[in-house]
Amino acid sequence: MGSSSATPIFHRNPTSQILNINERLLMIDCGEGTQQQMLRYGIKYHKIDHIFISHLHGDHFFGLIGLISSMHLNGRTKPLYLYAPAEIKEILELQFKHSGSVIKFPIEYHFTQVEKPEIILETNDFTVETIVLNHRIPCTGFIFREKERLRKINKEIAEELNIPQQYYALLKKGIDFIDEKGVKHKAKDLTLDPDAPKAYAYCSDTVADGSYNIHLKNIDTLYHESTFMHDMTERAKETFHTTSYEAAKLAKEQGVNKLLIGHFSARYRDLAPMLLEAREIFPQTYLAQEGETFLV
Ligand SMILES: [Zn+2]
Ligand SMILES: [Zn+2]
Repeated sequence: MGSSSATPIFHRNPTSQILNINERLLMIDCGEGTQQQMLRYGIKYHKIDHIFISHLHGDHFFGLIGLISSMHLNGRTKPLYLYAPAEIKEILELQFKHSGSVIKFPIEYHFTQVEKPEIILETNDFTVETIVLNHRIPCTGFIFREKERLRKINKEIAEELNIPQQYYALLKKGIDFIDEKGVKHKAKDLTLDPDAPKAYAYCSDTVADGSYNIHLKNIDTLYHESTFMHDMTERAKETFHTTSYEAAKLAKEQGVNKLLIGHFSARYRDLAPMLLEAREIFPQTYLAQEGETFLV
């Protein structure tokens, strides 16, 4: 929903993404204007229960207070889970206090830290772990990993053998079915192997110093910031950012399937040269621009 670094410019918004895992929508970063983008792309407030904030530079979280306020005005009562550096609580509470806002739903904070990577969320179907990045202030990336999926029903065979549909859920878990005549139907014969679980890594603002590369193993799709092009490598280092060349090199070294780049500097109105630069090294590179969707 946002691909700009620092300020909104050229129809580009500050950083925010939505990750859809089996229709559960996770928000990653929440720059200013994210609510407008949600309206534009039909993302409903109530569908979001988890928000992950990489660091406390404004272009990654200035949209949060507005979004929380709107969730409240929309009558939300269920908890919102917020994963962010600890100072976020003080910032939000000060804003609530001086605006006389009494938010009617619980905000469950999970404070991230930059000592070492950790698992910050585990559900039945996926986990979220942090990546410690190297930026001007404490900053983490996030890896979203699906767990092993259930087996898939082989409909043709299951229907031919008249397997009652209420047993499908058990078969998917690998439990055999015994029919009324006492005949055993093996789950293995009635199901197909599941799709391989997917992993998405989100590397927010960071200098590409190699320190976190080791954690980017078995990633299908990697999002990596790419604030500058190769000729600005020195500037990227000074400001703790990455170039398109470095992001592409990292994607290639880690053997990911797809690289998404974003967090573009305001100096680039046209992003085609940046994309070209990255694709020369890693052809499966795409611009993570507003309104684009990608399959992990
Ligand atoms: Zn930023
Ligand atoms: Zn930053």
